[in-house]
Amino acid sequence: MIDKKELIEKAKEAAVENFCCNHSKYTVGTVLLTKSGKIYKGFNIENHGIQSICGERSAFVNALLNGEKEFLAIAIAGKNVKDKLFAKTLPCGYCRQFMSEYATGELKIYTYDDETEECYEYTLDELLPENYSF
Ligand SMILES: [Zn+2]
Repeated sequence: MIDKKELIEKAKEAAVENFCCNHSKYTVGTVLLTKSGKIYKGFNIENHGIQSICGERSAFVNALLNGEKEFLAIAIAGKNVKDKLFAKTLPCGYCRQFMSEYATGELKIYTYDDETEECYEYTLDELLPENYSF
């Protein structure tokens, strides 16, 4: 099974490949690991206005479109396009809620800061203790 260091490296690759973040100039690459061991990448896809899609949701959409239903972890790598170093990048509130509807609270969320060389690890429950549900 792929480990978190590899997931973060693949998330960085997805961020570098991103050509859809011309508005914010902040690229976010993501890699979503499924229970079956497959990985699905995503990156932020921006447009004018407020309808942009974050990297976390694009990875989930990628996986869901391929029939995946069980998820173990998502790695997130973000940086300004001109920077070399990646910075700690966590999912926005909208993505936290979105992920909570397709993953359990046990979903691992990894991000990495190149400057401090620190890997941060959370569960979705830690980042969104009480999701919206009805
Ligand atoms: Zn988001």
